[in-house]
Order: sequence, then structure tokens, then C-alpha cells
Amino acid sequence: MKGVVPYNGFIKVVERPIPELLSEKDAIVRVTRSAICTSDFHIINNAVPRYIPNTILGHEFTGEVVEIGSEVKKLKIGDRVAANCITFCGECYFCKHGYINNCIKGGWELGCRIDGGQAEYVRVPYADMGLNKIPDNLSNDNALFVGDILSSGYFAAEGVKADDVVAVIGAGPVGLCAMMCAKYLGAKKIIAIDIDDNRLEYAKQFADFTINPNIADVENFIENITQYGADYVIEAAGGDNSFELAWRIARANATVFIVAMYEKSQILPLEKMYGKNLTFKTGGVDAVYCDELLNLLSQGKISTDFLISKSFPFEQVEDAYREFSKKETYKVVLEF
Ligand SMILES: [Zn+2]
Ligand SMILES: [Zn+2]
Repeated sequence: MKGVVPYNGFIKVVERPIPELLSEKDAIVRVTRSAICTSDFHIINNAVPRYIPNTILGHEFTGEVVEIGSEVKKLKIGDRVAANCITFCGECYFCKHGYINNCIKGGWELGCRIDGGQAEYVRVPYADMGLNKIPDNLSNDNALFVGDILSSGYFAAEGVKADDVVAVIGAGPVGLCAMMCAKYLGAKKIIAIDIDDNRLEYAKQFADFTINPNIADVENFIENITQYGADYVIEAAGGDNSFELAWRIARANATVFIVAMYEKSQILPLEKMYGKNLTFKTGGVDAVYCDELLNLLSQGKISTDFLISKSFPFEQVEDAYREFSKKETYKVVLEF
């Protein structure tokens, strides 16, 4: 079978054997859709220390179960499934508390430490945990983002309370999903912040206000709306100044949720924020709500269809990566 690995600052397609069950809790999945994620570029740029060289990329995919181990209970052969980007055992201390990103036997494994879903077949460990059945009324495309981008957006917005004014820095895929989830959770107003005017324009489907920090002063802009600053800030940009912007625009006692993945260290100047009494939360998504999110998708309460900007047949994966690297697109999907 064919799979995608990083190569010389880009990717290449390699030939590998079809994976086999290594544990009775594993499933083998024939991939039907696979998305390219910004994290794949972090790997390509050598910014992910946990990545094991030559591992097949891809942690956001759907497929059909073609083989299961004897201890897999929830799934059967032929099931249509969406993958969780996190591998987790469901039994350790962290899993039992919902902190699956820190599972002592898992974490971000697929497409990072074990071969992932940008391939024709993939072995999924702890398949009962890491695969979610797709409801009949959803297509593979409808369900594709549930285990990574949508879960990350929901994770970032989870603490939003009704009537909060929510500022979201970064109107890329995770930022947009966070806006959508914040709205679903009852946010009163959503402010989208991005340095790209096209992205801001697209964000208007969820955001009540949009602002480009290269053009106007974001702190003043938000104070004009709320008097105090934002009740809840989601930092989904991961840019050079976006962390500082996140805590500056938060009102006193606000929550600042950092869901961005940085390639550089950030400075936390506690002396400047003393008395502001902020709560910081950082991620690594704990993608524990996949079934609930699939239900919301199935009921039409949320939808991630707006994310797909372009689809390519798997044979054209190089073109797909080039398209995604232009950053004009939201999500590029590989079709098998
Ligand atoms: Zn991802
Ligand atoms: Zn665990």
C-alpha cells in the first residue's frame, strides 16, 4: 500500500506492507478520507520532537473497519468510522479523568509515532477508544474533522458560559471551529482576530466583529465593545505576538485558552499581569467528546462542512500538500 512520509522539507509517497493487528484491541481500517493538518507541517519543519522519523503522517481520517482483534467490542467489520487524533487506553489514571492526551500508553501517536492515516490502510490501537462510528445520515466528509479540528475547537471553547464575549485569535480551521462551538455554547458576542482579511471575511459566518491587529488596535477595539476586555479568549493562531495579545485583551479574571501550537518559546510576563487574576489553560486536545460531537453533527446543530476548501485523489497528494501550504485554503482532503 501507499503512504505519505516527510521528505526534505516536503513529503513523499512510500510503499509499505498493509498493516496487521499487533494487539487484540487493534483494528485495521481502510482509509476513505484523510485530511492534511497544520501539525503535519510542524512535523515536516522538524518542530515536533515526539515524531519518529519515517512514520506515515495523518491523524485526521475516516475509514471502514476491515479487521478487528478479539477484544474489540464496540466495532464490527464494515463499520464506517472517524478516527480520534489521540490514541488512549481508556483505563489509566489520565484516561479515567478524561485527560486522554496524557494517556500513559498513548497520546498523539497516529501519524506521529505510529503509522497514520495518510495511507490506504492504518492500524488503530485501542480501537474501541480511538474510533467512533459515523451516524448513517453523515457522509465521510461530514464526519472527517470530529477527532481533531472539531474536538480542538470544542476543547478550546468548552469553558465558554452563556453571555460571554469571546475573542478568538486566529481564524484558521481550529479558530473557526472554536467560534462555532462558542456560539453553540451560548456566547453573546464573538470577536474574530486575524492578520488575514480574507480569513476575517470568512469568519463572519460565526463572528459578530472582526479585527485585523495589523490595521487597528485590538485592545481599544475590544474595550469599546465590552468596557473591560474579553470574558474568554481563545488563542488559536500560534504567531509571534498572538500569545501576548491573548492575555492583553482578556478582562480581569478572564480565562485565556491556548490551543495554538507554537514553534517557538513564549514569554509569560507575570509582573505585567499581576492583579489581572487570569486563568490560563493550555492544550493538547483531550478529544473525549467525539460521540457527542458526531451526534450534534447528525442533528444539524453544528457542521464542519465549511472547512473543506479542496479535495484531491490520494494519487495527487503532492498537489494537495502544495495547495494546503498556500494557506489560502482551510482544509485539504485526500479521497481514496
Ligand atoms: Zn491535526
Ligand atoms: Zn490511558
